[in-house]
Amino acid sequence: MAKVEIDSLTKRYGSIVATDDVSLDIEDGSLTVLVGPSGCGKTTTLRSVAGLESPTEGTISFDGVDITDRPPQERDISMVFQDLALYPHMTGQENVAFPLRAEKGYSEPEIEEAVQEAAEVTDCDGFIDKKITELSGGQQQRVALARALVRRPEVFLMDEPFSDLDELLKRQLRAEVVQLQQEFAVTMIHVTHDQEEAMTMGDDLVVMNRGNVVQFGNPDEVFSRPRTLFVAMFIGSPQINRFDCDLSWDGDTAILDSGELVFELSGEAARPLRKATETRLAVCVRPQRLSWAETEPEDRLSIPVTVNVTEKIGTEDIVRCTTPRGHDVTAEVNSGTLSEGMDGYLIFDPANIHLFDGIDEEAERLN
Ligand code: ATP
Repeated sequence: MAKVEIDSLTKRYGSIVATDDVSLDIEDGSLTVLVGPSGCGKTTTLRSVAGLESPTEGTISFDGVDITDRPPQERDISMVFQDLALYPHMTGQENVAFPLRAEKGYSEPEIEEAVQEAAEVTDCDGFIDKKITELSGGQQQRVALARALVRRPEVFLMDEPFSDLDELLKRQLRAEVVQLQQEFAVTMIHVTHDQEEAMTMGDDLVVMNRGNVVQFGNPDEVFSRPRTLFVAMFIGSPQINRFDCDLSWDGDTAILDSGELVFELSGEAARPLRKATETRLAVCVRPQRLSWAETEPEDRLSIPVTVNVTEKIGTEDIVRCTTPRGHDVTAEVNSGTLSEGMDGYLIFDPANIHLFDGIDEEAERLN
């Protein structure tokens, strides 16, 4: 186990800035997920920790020791990448034993015992004797995990290891990896572009965009207090609802007008808007924070909508609606009676809106 510190990591490929002054403190024994859209610099960050890329600027330390210039084999790490890089002509057993044989200094009984243990914890003892070419995708995945764990590394790095698997297997393996990480108390850094995977796996999330870290926090914080409009739009499923509004003031009351929805905020609720530097602002509302009414509610802020599609997720319905002016709004409600073509109202709670200073993805949270 080790604490990993990334300090001002910049990596340039010619004129492309893959990571731009990235700094992260990754706690000993934690599971940190780097998440962001394609090209945001996740893999470059991970490969720099592995020693497969050398930073243009910045340093990387394990437990306070600067390892920036050490080659990968002198860092106590293991990696599982999307391309599992297993040796196809070897058996699972031979693949898992490989890192120990390569390192030398282990006796055959020691290797056998370590392989057996790694195979047991990753549930591949049933097929470890088969050749890699005879194994399914999920089985190969387990062998790759066993091989990465067999050396008991200080730091375990994973880059999109599940992306080729079907949804059910993906979910199962995610849960198992979290369990393994806890059992071994290893420091794990996991890269994914899938925000749902990030939300379900990580102790900490690092949301990246355009080579920068935009937010670092636990999944709840990132979900409930996204720092920028980009994070609000990227994290959360179904996607957050967004209304671009003009801000004006009537005395102490802030009026945010989207053209068909008018938020009037006063007192404490209006205070954050005093900091706004822009007059056109994004107001966002999570689908989970909307409720449904068949008739227009009095004294509550609502918008008329027509239901387009409903989708059942557990006990909830995901309801995709359109407003009279064609704005799409999604709600997650527990109704069970809504169907396509129905008209009704979505009710907003002003206490559960996210306000951003502008309508660009970098727009910062105001409240
Ligand atoms: P993905 O999810 O698609 O793998 P990512 O977030 O992991 O994306 P990186 O692979 O780190 O992103 O790439 C960041 C940027 O650096 C991209 O613009 C990419 O094209 C560029 N890049 C990465 N590796 C190289 C390289 N070896 N040479 C040139 N440009 C590179």
